[in-house]
Amino acid sequence: MARKSFGQHFLLDLNITRKIARLADLRPGDAVIEVGPGPGGLTRALVETGARVIAVEKDQRFRPLLEELAAASAGALTLVIGDALKVDEAALAGGPAHVVSNLPYNVGTPLLIKWLTGPWTPRSLTLMFQKEVAARIAAQPGAEAYGRLAVIAQATSEARVVMDVPARAFTPPPKVESAVVRLTPRADRPSAQRLDALQTVTAAAFGQRRKMLRASLKTLAHEGGGGEALALAAGLDPQARAETVDVAGFLRLADAWLRTRDA
Ligand code: SAM
Repeated sequence: MARKSFGQHFLLDLNITRKIARLADLRPGDAVIEVGPGPGGLTRALVETGARVIAVEKDQRFRPLLEELAAASAGALTLVIGDALKVDEAALAGGPAHVVSNLPYNVGTPLLIKWLTGPWTPRSLTLMFQKEVAARIAAQPGAEAYGRLAVIAQATSEARVVMDVPARAFTPPPKVESAVVRLTPRADRPSAQRLDALQTVTAAAFGQRRKMLRASLKTLAHEGGGGEALALAAGLDPQARAETVDVAGFLRLADAWLRTRDA
């Protein structure tokens, strides 16, 4: 029985799981972390690529099945029973690794933020999300879906929606459609301090997304000319709204905020 609280919707169609494995572009010997293998449909397709798969599953009930799969994999599959939000990926993989997952929807976004902003940098991420979340990750300025998630994802990686997956492909079918997003972390990923600042300025700007920057940034401006000065210091029009500011603009805003905060 699938557990709702664990976000369990399984992919059992080998055509789809193989396609996701192909999209992950793995080479034999690559390390890949799979979150939530469940009954192991996608896991099998990942093992077939010749990659070294480390599968992290929270639900103990899958242990016997996955241990059987691991035993038959000639060392290609390692099973870890645990919470993916808490694991140390560097220690698990023993070096660089890709991540591939049909994510549990309830923890998909926190996991993505952990991988994009945490101390460990994945080589690539190939992840199934609700279609609406996938759109929010890859959205461009001006789009309805453009917001904090797009800015954080695109400041840290190249993000593209690479495959739509209909609800009927899952057992049991979820209420929403799904899509696979492929993210490649940027070599020049912003520092932890800049990413913290980016989280702060995007929270303020998109917290009141219909307001002009000079109003929405007010809470961040300790001194001087308030939200208007902060926007100007970042080279942005104080009358612009958050949804029109591109990722580079938000990075300049994060830098301007750090300068005023530390002044
Ligand atoms: N990969 C399987 C497939 O495609 O058929 C299952 C995908 S299902 C959407 C999500 C899986 O993640 C479930 O097996 C669930 O038990 C597991 N899961 C949920 N929360 C988790 C967590 N915090 N850490 C690790 N696994 C988790």
